[in-house]
Amino acid sequence: MLEAKGLMVFYENMLALNNVSIKCAENQIVGVFGANSAGKSTLMYTLSGIIEDIRKKEEMAGGERISVLGKIQYLGQDITDVKPSRRAKRGIVLCPERRRIFKECSVIENLRIGGYLASPSQANETLEYVFRVFPALEKLKKRVGGFLSGGEQQMLAIGRALMAQPKLLLLDEPLLGLSPLVQALLVRATREIRDEKGISIIVTEQYARPVLPIVDYAFILENGAAVLEGTHDELMNNPDVRSAYFGI
Ligand code: ATP
Repeated sequence: MLEAKGLMVFYENMLALNNVSIKCAENQIVGVFGANSAGKSTLMYTLSGIIEDIRKKEEMAGGERISVLGKIQYLGQDITDVKPSRRAKRGIVLCPERRRIFKECSVIENLRIGGYLASPSQANETLEYVFRVFPALEKLKKRVGGFLSGGEQQMLAIGRALMAQPKLLLLDEPLLGLSPLVQALLVRATREIRDEKGISIIVTEQYARPVLPIVDYAFILENGAAVLEGTHDELMNNPDVRSAYFGI
C-alpha cells in the first residue's frame, strides 16, 4: 500500500531521518518504535507530506532550511511530489502527536471538521462508527474539547482522523502520557478499526510494549535510522531484541 525508500530529512545541517525505508501493506498495522528524538514525528510528517508545509513556512519566515530526499509510493503511484492536502484526499490521514484537537470546539464540531472531505452521507455513517468504537465520545458530544481528559482527547483525535475517510491512518504516539487502562482501550480500538474498516495503520510509539500485540510488522528507529525491522513473530522470537527494545 505504501512504500518509502531512502528518506532523508535535514533540519538545516541536522540529519533527522537517515536513509529510512519503510513499508506498510494493505490491511497491516505497522509499528515504528524509537526513543525521544529518534525521528518518529519527522517520519510521519514526511509520509503525510506535512513536512512540505513546515518547509515552506520556515522558508517564508526566513527560518531554518529543511531538505527532504527519497521516494514514496502509495497505491502504486509515486506521491513524492504530491501536496499534503491531495495525499489526505487520497486517504493518507495523519493523527498528530499531542492530539492537536480544536480545544474551543465541541466534540461534535471537532468530528464534523474532520469530515470536511467526506460526503454528507459518508460523514454521518462515519460519525456513527466513531461513536460505536468510542462510546465515551457520544456521551460527551457537546463538551468542549479542552475540557476532555487526555484519553478522551486522543479518542477524539482518532475519531476526527477517521472522519477524513483514511485508507492509511498515521497515528503518531497515540498512547503518550495515558494510563495503562486507557492505553489498552486505544490499542483495542486501533485493532478494531483495522479489522472492521480495513484501514491500514502506521503507529509510532516510544514504548513498544503496549502496541506490540497488534502490530504485524515493526521498524525500530535510532537516531534517525531504521536499525531493525521484522514481523511481529521475528522480533518477539529474538531474545536480544525483546530485552533491548521491548523490555520483556
Ligand atoms: P519525540 O518522541 O520527542 O516526539 P521523535 O522521534 O518524534 O521524538 P522528531 O520530532 O522527529 O523525533 O525529531 C527528530 C530530531 O529532529 C530531533 O533531534 C529533533 O530535535 C529534531 N527536530 C525536529 N523538528 C525540528 C525542527 N523543526 N527544527 C530543528 N530540529 C528539529
